[in-house]
Parts: sequence; C-alpha cells; structure tokens
Amino acid sequence: MKYYSTNRATPVVDLEEAVVKGLAADRGLFMPETIRPLPKEFFDTIDRLSFHEIACRVAEAFFGEDIPKEDLDRIVCDTLAFDCPVAEVEDRIYSLELFHGPTLAFKDVGARFMARLLRYFIGKRGAGRTVNVLVATSGDTGSAVANGFLGVDGIHVYVLYPKGKVSPIQECQFTTLGRNVTAVEVDGVFDDCQRLVKSAFMDSELCEKMTLTSANSINVARFLPQAFYYFNAYARMKALGKASELVISVPSGNFGNITAGLFAHRMGLPVKRFIAANNSNDIFYNYLLTGTYSPKASVQTIANAMDVGDPSNFARILDLYDNSHERISSLISGFAYPDSRIRLTMHDCYAATGYLLDPHGACGYQALKDGLQPGETGIFLETAHPAKFKETVEAAVEAPVAIPDRLAAFMNGEKQSVAMNADFSDFKDFLMRQ
Ligand SMILES: *Cc1c(COP(=O)(O)O)cnc(C)c1O
Repeated sequence: MKYYSTNRATPVVDLEEAVVKGLAADRGLFMPETIRPLPKEFFDTIDRLSFHEIACRVAEAFFGEDIPKEDLDRIVCDTLAFDCPVAEVEDRIYSLELFHGPTLAFKDVGARFMARLLRYFIGKRGAGRTVNVLVATSGDTGSAVANGFLGVDGIHVYVLYPKGKVSPIQECQFTTLGRNVTAVEVDGVFDDCQRLVKSAFMDSELCEKMTLTSANSINVARFLPQAFYYFNAYARMKALGKASELVISVPSGNFGNITAGLFAHRMGLPVKRFIAANNSNDIFYNYLLTGTYSPKASVQTIANAMDVGDPSNFARILDLYDNSHERISSLISGFAYPDSRIRLTMHDCYAATGYLLDPHGACGYQALKDGLQPGETGIFLETAHPAKFKETVEAAVEAPVAIPDRLAAFMNGEKQSVAMNADFSDFKDFLMRQ
C-alpha cells in the first residue's frame, strides 16, 4: 500500500516510510491510497467472530500487502492482549470500554500496535541506528506510547508533556519508567509540545544525526488500528440485535480516534452517523456550524486529553470527504461542553445508572443524551478509566473511585524528567547531545 500526503506536495511512500517518518515532508498527514471495503459476507457473519478474528480481517485490509499474514496476525494478537467490551449503561445507550489495557486508555491499542510494527521493521532491516520516537502528550498518549515501547530494543522514546497540565496519575505512568523512556517536562501547553515535535521532524540537521519518528495520533500505525474496536462494537451490538440505527459518539481532541471510525465507515461498517463530542475546545464544533475552521489556542479543561486547539487529524477528515462541509456535517454532528456540564454529567449518570464515567467519556455520553433521535441506538467511546482522574471524578460523583492494581503499580515509582522551555533551539540542543 502506498501512502500520500494530505498536502499532496510530496511523492507517495510505502508503509515503512509512512510509519518511520510519521509526518510527510510537506507537513501533511499520510493517507492510505485505497481504503478497501470489506465484503458483505464479513458483515453478515461478524457477530459470530471474536475480537481477534475481526481485528485480523481489518488489519489485513490496511496492511496485508506489506506484512505477511502470520506476522500481521501475531502483531494484532499481541496488541489486543485485553478486551474492548460494550456495556449497557441505560436504555439505548452503550459504553464501548476502551480502558482495559495496561495504561487504562484507548491509546494503548494504537501505541501497542505501532511499537510492534516498528519492531517488525527494525528486525527486518537488521541492527542499525536507534530509532527515536518523539511524542507530544496532553496526558494519555505519553503513557500509552512509553509503555507500548518500554524495553523494546533499538528504540528510544522521548515523551514531551506540558508542565503542570497532566494529572499526577497520568504523569507517573511515563516519568517513572526509565530504561529507554525519557520524559521531557515542557514549560508550556500541549500545543507547544506538539510544535516542538513537528519542528524536530522538519530540522534537516537533526534528522541527519538521528532517526526520528512520531508516535502521535498522526502516525498511520497508531490511528488505523483504532478502527478494530469500531468493528468489534458493531459485532457485539449485532449479536444483541441492536445494530440497526447505530450512532457512535466519540470524545475528541486531536480527532485521531473518530477518524479511525470514519475509515471503518468507509470500509462499509454500517453505522448511521457519528458525533464528535468536545470539551470547551470547540474548534471542530464551530466548523460544523459555520463551515469555517479557525484554530485557537487550547484551553485547559478537566477532560485534558481533549485540550487541543488545532486538531491535526482535521486534515484527514477534509481529505476523506473532498473538503466538503456538506458531506462532513451530514455524517458527523457536534457537541461541546464546559467543565461544569461535564461534572454534572458524571454526577447524574452515576446517580441514575451507577455507571462511572471519566471526564472524556462523559462528553461522549452527554452528546448521546442530547443528540440521539427516536429509533437510534447510541454507543459512546469510554476512552479512559475514571480512576485516571480520581480526584475530579470523586468530587463530581460524591463517591469513592477504586484504583485498579495496574494503575496503583505506577504510583510507587520515582519521577525522573528533563526540564525544557518551549523554545525549539533548546530542545534541538538537547537532542543533539544525546
Ligand atoms: C487522547 C484522548 C482523547 C482524544 O482522542 P483523539 O484521538 O485525540 O481525538 C479522548 N479521551 C482520552 C481519555 C484520551 O486520552
């Protein structure tokens, strides 16, 4: 499979180059040249297939030309060492629980897949230069990527995160690991971290000295595998006899997760429509209303993994629908919620149903409450475990939130990080010294 850039100002590349480069030379995002529809027979029988079987079929459609089937199946099965179940929250509203992985958030799926794919490519090439993974995080990407790559030979991970703007529980998941993981604490906001990473890829001197790759949601190896669980959710709903008018609500920040759902839709997944649920960072919401995309500085919220003022994957959504606002807004609707509403939603949902939402999932749930039409069934993506935001959730629901063992284990480690300002020249000097 060849991958082109959304800016279309650079030649197409193969999968390995798209994964290692992360971002195209013209600063565009890579898109697969073809999105292969899956046959009707697959959807007819999907409710009898396991998550692994479904994921292997979807992976084959994307990566089957580039990776032998046995290798690809092994990568998929290693990635999905945990389930992504669908749970009924109330009549017509279901939660797709994406927090059963090692760092308790959906980013485990893409990060684990990318780590295994990169290891496969490094292994094929034989021993060579270290591959350096640069990742900007507003919270959960850093932990998922760091843990996905931890201890993998030939790879070093640098996690850039905004000082004081990720929760203590999130922070300890990537600052306590050591080994091949370096945490870089940036005096700035998430967009600064993202800018530093993007600038590093554009710096020819740096790129000559070291092999750099991105593991942000812009990387095709991170965002495409997220399609797996959309198909699985459909299968589980079909088994319940509830799959006829499905609406999927996705708490969105950088829009990688929802874009994977849109790819699934393009491959034939019978979903009626999507909802992009935002916090106060309402750039996409405004685009849907007005047709004008105006990026802004991000504002801090309690759903901090969605604090993004210029979502990268917007370029992919535009590309997928030929820049047509009409096509985009007829398939996707939007909602945006301030912190006060998110808190109230967590409270009301818990009081009414006993289901604990995290602040991100709460946006997705609330958007279904506000947007579901008669006859439709809604699934929201519960993107993180509520215990990752323990203080916020406990204050909202007025009940204790238990910390799962695998999360508690991180909290016993010692924090190690490198302090950095938001200036690219300083970040570059630091990398040049490594
Ligand atoms: C990253 C993240 C999001 C946003 O996902 P995008 O793919 O960036 O839109 C939502 N919720 C949680 C918990 C996250 O970590």
